[in-house]
Order: sequence, then structure tokens, then C-alpha cells
Amino acid sequence: MPKERDNNIIRKLEEQGSKGGVPPLLRQFYQKLLHIQSEAERHIGVPELGLTSETISDRIEQGLPLIVFDELDLDWPLLNDMLAKVIIVFSEYPELFGPIPESLKEAGAGHFLTSEVVKTWFEGSKLPTAIAANNVNERLLGDIIQATLSPFLASYSQAALSHVNQEHWRRGYCPVCGGNPDFAFLDKESGARWLLCSRCNAGWIFQRLECPYCGSKDQNALAYFTDDEGLYRLYVCEQCKRYLKAIDLRQAKSEVLIPLERLLTLDLDAQAQEYGYNP
Ligand SMILES: [Zn+2]
Ligand SMILES: [Zn+2]
Repeated sequence: MPKERDNNIIRKLEEQGSKGGVPPLLRQFYQKLLHIQSEAERHIGVPELGLTSETISDRIEQGLPLIVFDELDLDWPLLNDMLAKVIIVFSEYPELFGPIPESLKEAGAGHFLTSEVVKTWFEGSKLPTAIAANNVNERLLGDIIQATLSPFLASYSQAALSHVNQEHWRRGYCPVCGGNPDFAFLDKESGARWLLCSRCNAGWIFQRLECPYCGSKDQNALAYFTDDEGLYRLYVCEQCKRYLKAIDLRQAKSEVLIPLERLLTLDLDAQAQEYGYNP
């Protein structure tokens, strides 16, 4: 299934090329990245979760994501190979990311992605200064780690998501990996709002009138804007000044590939940031 989905995304991106929706460089970058991620995901398959149904329901009840870093069975040779490829793709687009320092390219070949670094990133802590020191922008480094880990986490998400009791979760972070949401959709049937994980792409149901980032339910602090067709929404929160993009699937007239929507809605990001909101 991911293969088919990824092929559809690549095809749609190519169509976009002639229409000029996504800036050409970004489109090329994303196509290359998706290609290597999709290949890695095929290699990984669907991993064994290794959790009893009791542990699963305990974690969900207590608000603990199902994946714990120390329980992950990562294929390190594959991961390091993936890292080297990701660094090459990023370094081909200095216009988008700035020049990639030589130290990082060398480090990529020398396998700097130790389990300690990956764990630090996974748990959302600050990356070790030794790594951040070599003139490498921390945000760029985070993007590279995320792009490298993405197929691994997406595979775990496929294995884990069906075990999540959606009604028992309803929290602002991902039930599979604990990541933050970076996109949302309103489902076709009931218009319920689903959040999507920025790291593993898992979807989970969440209140429509609550900010997933700071938890505010103050109706005076929460608002959303829509486009003319009512297809897209931009949720904003005055409490924490963050925003969330969403697509209303009830208004969609053709097939929607959600991962692609993140790219197709870059003008929404620009607008939100212009108004002073943060991603
Ligand atoms: Zn996740
Ligand atoms: Zn908020």
C-alpha cells in the first residue's frame, strides 16, 4: 500500500510541475526524498510490535505513546545507508536548505547517527552540542534526522495504529510515536477532526474546539479561516500563537493524497506566519 500511495504522490507531483503549484525545486527535492523513503519502507515491511493487548490499552489509557525508543528494533545498517542518501539529497538543494557543511557529509559517511542521537531526537530533547557544533544548523539537522527516520516510524505506525482505541486517546500528540501534529483533516462522514503526526504520519481523532498544542479550550482564543471553496482551513490559537493547516474532505471533489497536501498548502503557512503564528 505505501508503494502505491507513494507512486500516486510522485505522479501527482509531476502533474503539478506543469501547473506550477509547488515551487519546482521543492517539488524535485520532495520527489527524490520520497523515492528513497518509499524504497526503505518497502525493505522494512511491517515490524512486530511485541506488545500485549493489555500493555497497549494501559499505555493508551495513561496517555503514553505505543512506541518507546528502547523497544524499537531498528535496522542500523539500513538506517545509516538511508542517512547517507538523505544527506546527498539535501546537499543537492542549497537554494532550499543552505549549503550542507562538509563535516556533515563526512559525518554521514562515518555514521554519526548513533542510537543516543536518535533517541535524543525521538524524545524531543536538545541534540548533543558536539553534533550541533560543527556549523550545522540544529533545525536542518533535525530535518535530516526526521527524513531518515521517517520510513522506520511510518512502518511502526502501520503496525501500531490499528491497536489504538481512538475514543480513549484524543490527545494533542501522536498515540504511536508521541510526535506533534503538523496537519489535520475533517473526515468525510462526520466532519470529525483528525490530526496527523509530523513524524510517523499516524492519524488520530481530536476535539475540533481545542488547541492541540497548548490545550486551550477558550473559544475566544481559538479561530479558523477558510479559503473561498471551504476546502482548506487554518486553525489558529491566540493563547500559544500556533497554527494548524487542515483539509475538509467533505468539500473535496477529487482524490486527496494527504501527505502531498502539506506541500500544496505552503501558501497557508506563509499567510499564517505573516499574521504572526508559528508552525
Ligand atoms: Zn507519530
Ligand atoms: Zn494553543
